[in-house]
Amino acid sequence: MTYDLIVVGGGPAGMMAAGTAANRGKKVLLIEKNAQVGKKILITGKGRCNLTNDCQVEDIIDNFPNTGKFLYSSLYSFSNWQLRDFFKQLGVETKVERGNRVFPVSDSARDIVEALKNFMENAGVEIKLNTAIKEIITEDKKVVGVRSRDGEVYSANNVLVAVGGKAYPTTGSSGDGYGMAKSLGHNLIQAKPSLVPLKVKEEWFKELQGLNLKNVTVSLVIDGKKKKEEFGEMLFTHFGVSGPIILTLSRDVLDYLGKHQIKLAINLKPALSYEQLDNRLQRDFEKYSRKQFKNSLIDLLPSKIIPVIVNLLSIPEDKFVHQITTEEREEIISLLTNLEITIIGTMGFRQAIVTSGGIDTDEINPSTMESKIIDSLYFAGEVIDVDAYTGGYNLQGAFSMGYVVGNNI
Ligand SMILES: Cc1cc2nc3c(=O)[nH]c(=O)nc-3n(C[C@H](O)[C@H](O)[C@H](O)COP(=O)(O)OP(=O)(O)OC[C@H]3O[C@@H](n4cnc5c(N)ncnc54)[C@H](O)[C@@H]3O)c2cc1C
Repeated sequence: MTYDLIVVGGGPAGMMAAGTAANRGKKVLLIEKNAQVGKKILITGKGRCNLTNDCQVEDIIDNFPNTGKFLYSSLYSFSNWQLRDFFKQLGVETKVERGNRVFPVSDSARDIVEALKNFMENAGVEIKLNTAIKEIITEDKKVVGVRSRDGEVYSANNVLVAVGGKAYPTTGSSGDGYGMAKSLGHNLIQAKPSLVPLKVKEEWFKELQGLNLKNVTVSLVIDGKKKKEEFGEMLFTHFGVSGPIILTLSRDVLDYLGKHQIKLAINLKPALSYEQLDNRLQRDFEKYSRKQFKNSLIDLLPSKIIPVIVNLLSIPEDKFVHQITTEEREEIISLLTNLEITIIGTMGFRQAIVTSGGIDTDEINPSTMESKIIDSLYFAGEVIDVDAYTGGYNLQGAFSMGYVVGNNI
């Protein structure tokens, strides 16, 4: 039997493509390596699935650094509004939260996976689980089928590679698509872990392991110049820093790693102006005037960070608070609003939310997602060199690309 379309990979891109094509009367086989489809979706948004963002399509494009323009056509063909409507039709109502992030009302990523399964089933998609594809078979630069690791051959007039990138390989995305594409002549942009925790040079961060800082701002400073600032939550870990704003900044860090000096400057008190912070310090110093300096910051800072801050300052820790000078107060304010750490690398793919890099967008037709090198071969989702910041953009991109393939074969 020859299928109209074989979809390799049962993630958001693959499932959307399979169901969309089958709804148009195409004979579709979806092949998934895991024992279930949508394994990664289950852990998205901490199990709640931030499936898209309630913003203008142009803003979604802007949230894909470097290659956002490649998605112009697919995002306009299947927008965030259409995606929400699509899930509504399947019985999954969605809601908008902080930062315009869209989640299912049920807060359950499983509902998204179940809806996609129903979508495929109702459209008549055949699903083959526990089958890893090793090779795309071509004849005269045209796709004719795929071969599994066990040597089984499946014939098709069109093949979509939607196997994801390399991030979180425990969910199935272990970079299989890169070898397939390369062997067919496709160029690869080096895959790097993105939206990933960062490694820190300074030794003192280790004393802060487990400390979660809320309502701080962190600036990305490259060769002394501030490039970007994020407000929110961050976390100190045994290797460096993590948490929402660090993951977001990590995408920009990738562009500078190994070539520039990368620092993160943490403002521990972004809500206070210089004057307000100074007044606050003076009040605390009045209250603790008979204490030693090291015991005077207890009302201002989390206790875990106080010894680190005291050590980084030139003020002797046993100095009496009433002896602290104006200049020393200035030094304290400067450190609290600009605590710098040096970034020396990222953690690996196992801890990365997405992969930056992948199949070169220059060799894919953005209106159809068809390869410009091999006829009837398509790519969609994270396997391509498209990656976004956090906020639901990555899933929206995968769904939109999948839709375009399903609508074009
Ligand atoms: C912890 C975590 C949280 C995230 N949260 C969000 C979020 O809230 N919002 C958001 O927008 N994005 C989020 N993402 C990113 C998002 O999940 C991915 O960008 C998206 O799933 C990519 O979709 P995809 O279809 O391209 O690939 P995947 O979802 O990776 O699916 C690829 C599928 O292909 C299968 N496969 C791989 N190789 C083969 C093979 N050789 N043969 C057959 N099958 C194969 C895999 O098993 C897998 O099922 C998160 C990612 C992680 C890791």
